[in-house]
Amino acid sequence: MPLKIWLNGKLVPKEKATVSVYDHGLLYGDGVFEGIRVYNGRVFKLQTHLRRLEESAKSIRLEIPYTAQELTVAIDKTLKANKRTNGYIRLCVTRGVGSLGLNPFNCERASVFIIADSISLYPAEMYDKGMAIITASTIRNHPGALSPRIKSMNYLNNILAKIEAIDAGVPEAVMLNHMGFVAECTGDNIFIVRNQGTPGSTGGQPTLISPPLHAGTLEGITMSTVLDLAAKQYLPIQRYDLTRHDLYTADEMFLTGTAAEVIPVTSVDGRQIGNGKPGPITRRLISAFKELVAKDAPED
Ligand code: PMP
Repeated sequence: MPLKIWLNGKLVPKEKATVSVYDHGLLYGDGVFEGIRVYNGRVFKLQTHLRRLEESAKSIRLEIPYTAQELTVAIDKTLKANKRTNGYIRLCVTRGVGSLGLNPFNCERASVFIIADSISLYPAEMYDKGMAIITASTIRNHPGALSPRIKSMNYLNNILAKIEAIDAGVPEAVMLNHMGFVAECTGDNIFIVRNQGTPGSTGGQPTLISPPLHAGTLEGITMSTVLDLAAKQYLPIQRYDLTRHDLYTADEMFLTGTAAEVIPVTSVDGRQIGNGKPGPITRRLISAFKELVAKDAPED
């Protein structure tokens, strides 16, 4: 069955789902999007994704020509038309067709499309054995230039870092921010675990640590989900600026993302993390995440 794409209110075959070469989404990367999962026929954290889409759009002064309720119905229709109960949804809003100048206000109407397909970012064995990553020399966008909190269609910053990862023979790269602290990876948020708690403490307990919001990262929905799961397990959580040294000396590390879900990291820039195997807290959080998404109606 050919894939059906929801495009501006109509379901059209994939081959016919096209946008104009004058669309500013294509000409300038001017648009916003969401990547969303569907598990067992339930769209995971849909309202949270729609809220983030609205916030991204508001920030770039893009008017989405559909309400959250209309987009919810459109996503449901797209899933049904493709008989998809598990997989990945890509919801995109481009600035629309305009003239060749930058001015976004010459574009008449934003274009919206929804793809329901499958996605597999990393090889299955990496979820068991862990992944090696590097630090990219490309820094994450300065929040004063283009806030990483906007999930925009302009991913060149991340793509440049991704190329560095691929050149180094690994699937993902850590990106530092303009201050030299850890921000996030090219398509995932990052967490570490320190068995002795925060640096300088003695006899502390295993603590989950992730970069703070001001590090300049996307506010990952998988990240928030994992933080909630960790809190439910009474795992101490800290968010503070991390250096590469913090990564190299971490006892455990993992990445989170809608497509990646939760994936262990066992090496950074050639430094082994912990004993080189996914750690117990990482494995516990992976199990809790799997349990959550498999449950009925994990509503926001
Ligand atoms: N950071 C970046 C740069 C991303 O593109 C993504 C999503 N792929 C994430 C983090 C993870 O966010 P989420 O859990 O909401 O998918």
